[in-house]
Amino acid sequence: MTAPEAPEHEVPKLENAFLAHEPTIRLAAFLGLLALIAVWEALRPRRALAAPKTPRWLSNFGLVALDSLVLRFASPLLAIDLALTAEERGFGLFNLVPAPRWLAIVATVLVLDLVIYLQHRAFHAVPLLWRLHMVHHTDRGFDVSTGVRFHPVEIALSMGIKMAIVALLGAPASGVLVFEVFLSATSLFNHGNVFLLPAVDRYLRLIVVTPDMHRVHHSIDPVETNSNYGFNLPWWDRLFGSYRAQPAAGHERMTIGLEQFPEARRLLLHHLLILPFSGRTGRYPAGRYRKRAASRPG
Ligand SMILES: [Zn+2]
Ligand SMILES: [Zn+2]
Repeated sequence: MTAPEAPEHEVPKLENAFLAHEPTIRLAAFLGLLALIAVWEALRPRRALAAPKTPRWLSNFGLVALDSLVLRFASPLLAIDLALTAEERGFGLFNLVPAPRWLAIVATVLVLDLVIYLQHRAFHAVPLLWRLHMVHHTDRGFDVSTGVRFHPVEIALSMGIKMAIVALLGAPASGVLVFEVFLSATSLFNHGNVFLLPAVDRYLRLIVVTPDMHRVHHSIDPVETNSNYGFNLPWWDRLFGSYRAQPAAGHERMTIGLEQFPEARRLLLHHLLILPFSGRTGRYPAGRYRKRAASRPG
């Protein structure tokens, strides 16, 4: 039920204040969590890093700086601004069909998370998209900086997909902001080289993707790479049959990276930027490793 005098699509005051500070909230959440996980990694690492930190951190944080620039220039109307425009002009599902605000916010977070899961699967399955996404998987180390290692074109495509969903849903802007903060926070957390008690991990991974769960996805073994696509909520992998609890070799002994980039320790920022156009796609993606393994004699 709505208050009789309230304009039909008025954004509540608290949400307005929340949205007014959107860039600050996102930056503070990102930097705060980054510092926290970096300290946690230094004090209680999960495994020894297979590749030196300094060149990787320079490349990975160089990429996130570029990604932010690309988004600001290529897409000035970002998902949150689009959600505000949809609310003002009354387009999209939740602006046409009356629904409680809390329900619209929860549905926005769930739908966007499902779409990010499906998008991640598509980036592994479609060779052209895999070329972009393999930049993320070439990292031979696995730590908090891997969580921001994405090619700018992948980031721009991902933003385009999110904006399409936001427009279709008529998603409340605060729901989009909650999702964006949640996504950047969990991406830092689930790439963290941090030690968690096994019992804590076991329960935590029922509600959020943990580092041990996501590390399986960075395994050099294509069967393991082809699992645990979720970034935030762990339920989609369980629901769609892509969940794998642990790596076969164990977390300390497993190899991280892609087999076609054994020299990945030397990949610097400029190499990563041209990698989608020049790099080898390997036996992955699109289940090619299965087809080739099946056609191999003996
Ligand atoms: Zn992936
Ligand atoms: Zn990852």
